[in-house]
Amino acid sequence: MEDKQFIKNFEEQVKNTIKKYKLFDKKDKILVACSGGKDSTTTLYLLKKFGYNVQAGIIDLKIGKFSDINLNNIKNFCKEKKIKINVFDFRKEFGFSFCYIRDILKSKNIKLNSCTICGILRRYLMNKLARKLKFTKLATGHNIDDEAQTILMNQFKGNIKLSAKQGPISGILKNKKFIPRVKPLYFSKEDDIRKYSKLMNFPVNYEPCPCSTKAYRRSIRTLIPKYEIEVNNIVESFFKILPSLQKQYKNEKINYCIICSEPTPGKECKTCQLIKKLKQ
Ligand code: SF4
Ligand SMILES: [Zn+2]
Repeated sequence: MEDKQFIKNFEEQVKNTIKKYKLFDKKDKILVACSGGKDSTTTLYLLKKFGYNVQAGIIDLKIGKFSDINLNNIKNFCKEKKIKINVFDFRKEFGFSFCYIRDILKSKNIKLNSCTICGILRRYLMNKLARKLKFTKLATGHNIDDEAQTILMNQFKGNIKLSAKQGPISGILKNKKFIPRVKPLYFSKEDDIRKYSKLMNFPVNYEPCPCSTKAYRRSIRTLIPKYEIEVNNIVESFFKILPSLQKQYKNEKINYCIICSEPTPGKECKTCQLIKKLKQ
């Protein structure tokens, strides 16, 4: 396919996903959770191109050179495209750098890998900051490969409840303190996003994060092509059971964390539990 036609088809697919699943409209104020990578940069670019009220949000994790390169890239990109950027300093928000938190938890024998800790803290922070800045939607760069891997991982680990949170609009529990999370690239393949990002010359770091511990996801990622499984088939069949999964878990009660007042199904949110363990 010619590059021009590829770009047109790719953009149409994202447009259709936004429309079909009513991810947001022109009245929404959207924060794109950026990392400096191809997926979130593409999301940011397309939302701006389609005329939405969009801004970039990046959490500076301070993972050495990796964070510096990503931050620099996204700052330059936003400057060039005239997009407002919000840089959130991880250390300022939590009092410690990400690497420090991870190392201390590890030394206390807490069996959580880097990506799990990072994911919990980043989701918490993005939601809190998006709410504070009055954004109405939080967009992420998740693609169909991520989604298919997550569905399989949850299935293999017996975490079916976690799958109920998947889909183009994440989460099932509605609460005014949760900013709805949406995935405009939900049906886009990772290879296509890479190709699009390269054709568009986005200033993107294609290197993986040095702290990545997604070993289980990596093995699922290699398993999919090995057995010639189509990611579309995984997601399409998942869609058939998603409504009943959502129905099953949607009435779960939401409490407010007794430490930070953020919404959580338990008494204390996962972030406060981690910070508490850190200080013990
Ligand atoms: S790869 Fe893991 S540690 Fe690195 S930014 Fe992503 S979630 Fe965080
Ligand atoms: Zn809390």
